Amino acid sequence: MAYNSDNDIAGQYSVSFPQGFDYGPEEGEGDPAGGAQDQKPKILVMGLRRSGKTSIQKVVFHKVSPNETLFLESTNKIVKEDVTNCQFFVYHVWDLPAHLDYFDSTFDPELIFGGCGALIFVIDSQDDYMDALSKLHFVVTRVYKMNPKIKFEVFIHKVDGLSDDHKIDAQRDINQRATEDLADAGLDNVHLSFYLTSIYDHSIFEAFSKVVQKLIPQLPTLENLLDIFISNSGIEKAFLFDVVSKIYIATDSSPVDMQSYELCCDMIDVVLDVSSIYGGFDSEPPVYEPRHNRISPLSFDSDSDSDDGEIIPERVNPADSNQRLAVIKLNNGTVMYLREVTKQNCWRLSVY
Ligand code: GDP
Repeated sequence: MAYNSDNDIAGQYSVSFPQGFDYGPEEGEGDPAGGAQDQKPKILVMGLRRSGKTSIQKVVFHKVSPNETLFLESTNKIVKEDVTNCQFFVYHVWDLPAHLDYFDSTFDPELIFGGCGALIFVIDSQDDYMDALSKLHFVVTRVYKMNPKIKFEVFIHKVDGLSDDHKIDAQRDINQRATEDLADAGLDNVHLSFYLTSIYDHSIFEAFSKVVQKLIPQLPTLENLLDIFISNSGIEKAFLFDVVSKIYIATDSSPVDMQSYELCCDMIDVVLDVSSIYGGFDSEPPVYEPRHNRISPLSFDSDSDSDDGEIIPERVNPADSNQRLAVIKLNNGTVMYLREVTKQNCWRLSVY
């Protein structure tokens, strides 16, 4: 990781994943640079059909709106899809119909699970989850034998349809049953992490962020740098984001408040939308007018005296014409600052 500071402590970061960090071999398919992907952790997503795997992928990685996933077609065979546009990890989705045994000789489980950093298992909380729990047990017991270092992450999904009490009950019940089943199989040492998720709010991005962070060996260093950054700048909270997926790679050590995280995600959406419409901040500086809920590139005026809030695009360093930055001032006094730290879609976003 490189750290460079001229007039701002943030400087520029470049993060790499060491090959020897138990991510195992990667195919490197479709990678023109050849081997760049070898350094990325691999995440597998599994679960019964209709549990929400494809929807999660579409919402997090393809910017599809949650309502559009209602019309996704169901499949009766194993479907594998790779998401490789994220700069920080390679993400594979396996749609696993319950009747198929992908640990038999037809498949090569060692190849699938051997080099995998994390396995996300999606359980539909609105459905009877007994089948899903037995599939989870089946998968965990087998995969653990092949790859004991893999992280098992259980997404208790579609919780938007449950009341707060039901969410807690479902989480406790699923946690208890899954852990007891493993203990009965003599696998008390296998750790499962549980998350309540929905594509209809930011919980799915938050859960994904937590999973990805477990696979980043430089996380303590990044957190440390963000701590130094906020203690020297008076900023309240700082996130290091992959702006394409809105997954945060790291944050400072103060607790994450969901509202700040959601605010940051909304800012990223606004800034990227404006950028894509008006060709980025280098050409047409836009201004966001919250009261009118609109963005007006033509009304931008650096001396404008608005009560509502505004996006102020700036050049951090006039010598670097490619470095992008946006500031949004909200009328409650919050100022949000988004600054690119690498050319690989990874931005730092601060709230103060
Ligand atoms: P897959 O077979 O596991 O890939 O499941 P799909 O992604 O096709 O999703 C099945 C259905 O669940 C679709 O109608 C989605 O709209 C719905 N769905 C997915 N995620 C959520 C969620 O978080 N909440 C709710 N209420 N429905 C969801």
